[in-house]
Amino acid sequence: MNAIILGSGPAGYTAAIYLGRSGHKATVIEGLQPGGQLTTTTIVENFPGFPDGIDANELMDNMRQQAINYGAEILSNTAEKADLSQQPYSITLDNGEVLTTNVLIIATGASAKYLGLSDEQKYQGMGVSACATCDGFFYRKKVVAVVGGGDTACEEATYLAGLAQKVYLIVRKPYLRATQTMQQRVMDNEKIEVLFETNVTGLYGDDGVEGAHLVHRKGEADEHTSDLPISGLFLAIGHKPNSDIFKPWINTDEQGYIITDGPTPRTNLPGVFAAGDVADPLYRQAINAAASGCRAAIEAERYMQTMP
Ligand code: NDP
Repeated sequence: MNAIILGSGPAGYTAAIYLGRSGHKATVIEGLQPGGQLTTTTIVENFPGFPDGIDANELMDNMRQQAINYGAEILSNTAEKADLSQQPYSITLDNGEVLTTNVLIIATGASAKYLGLSDEQKYQGMGVSACATCDGFFYRKKVVAVVGGGDTACEEATYLAGLAQKVYLIVRKPYLRATQTMQQRVMDNEKIEVLFETNVTGLYGDDGVEGAHLVHRKGEADEHTSDLPISGLFLAIGHKPNSDIFKPWINTDEQGYIITDGPTPRTNLPGVFAAGDVADPLYRQAINAAASGCRAAIEAERYMQTMP
């Protein structure tokens, strides 16, 4: 029986490897970001088996090849629509093709959140980014800002400080949410200046970002605004699970993470399983995604055995 796996991060490829090894055909729809979120980073140092770390793209290429070696078919498409009202479920691809299956593994991951300012779209690729490791190189010796106060923001600010002349970390609260170690790393870095209780309200610049409009201590008696000259704005304010097209049928939490049956990858629909970051609001690590891809494949296989 043919299973469809949506997503090509560690969850999707691991599911394909396990299904292939158990003698089932898996079709992987790669999605918008082949290889998943990990491809936006550089070296992965916390995936077991690589004592000196491994290039993230190499790791994902290896997983892809391993899936192919066990018979996976990989389609360089995006799933645009889903109809899970009844089996067989149907998935419409960006080229209009409609695939049907009784067994679906949703491993569509999560995407970076934006503030929702129209200027973010206006300057996308011209000074606005949600990935320091992808785009930081373009800002060598320039002044940039990172928005957010969590581990990602601190990590991105620290990474950018290695390239840029100066990094502002724009935090809306009077404190950072990041773990103590990450906070310390930021505070100890003399190239990083943290602007607490500050929000970005807009961007300006003729030919790309030249600065950000800020509001400080919003809603307080001493609320005031300022302009901050920067060449790049990096968003690091969390991620949104890519579950929108399944929501009419699949149970999600208020943030959109797919709700599974306890520690299993089973969703509320028979034959539909969720793996990786799309169902993981807590850990969001490659190794967890891979492990949940394995669980999804094992459950999918068990499910297939029950089918006539
Ligand atoms: P978080 O949800 O932890 O933090 C998001 C940050 O963005 C918060 O400071 C939040 O502010 C801020 N924020 C959210 N929306 C807005 C907004 N509209 N305007 C301004 N600021 C906003 O996300 P992360 O991506 O940082 O981390 C996600 C998970 O991944 C965490 O569990 C983290 O520990 C983990 N992680 C671990 C890493 C590691 O171990 N090396 C590296 C990166 C992430 P507020 O606090 O006010 O809500």
